[in-house]
Amino acid sequence: MEQECPLVRDLFPDLVAELITLLEDEGARELAICAWDLRLVDECHCGDDFCQSFRTAAHPQGQPYGAGHRCVPLLPSRGMLCLDVVDGRIMYVEVLDRPPMHRHSERP
Ligand SMILES: [Zn+2]
Repeated sequence: MEQECPLVRDLFPDLVAELITLLEDEGARELAICAWDLRLVDECHCGDDFCQSFRTAAHPQGQPYGAGHRCVPLLPSRGMLCLDVVDGRIMYVEVLDRPPMHRHSERP
């Protein structure tokens, strides 16, 4: 099901490269490997113009993440990046106050 979602690294290669660098700097090697394989499942629909967050896994509708959830704040040179991780899986990438990301065309 999620296999049909585009790879984030195809859409936003610069973002994924930055995520991986930041995660490796923090010693979070396993998350860095996950970041390479992230897929864009859904965009955040909050409508805030400073928000470019997106989901990288299907979320249970209206449910909290529950046990095993942690936030992984990163320290980018611009804006804010934060990962929501549940049991080692990246569920959500918070992208706030960042310059607009432009999608690269998706591969056929
Ligand atoms: Zn949002």
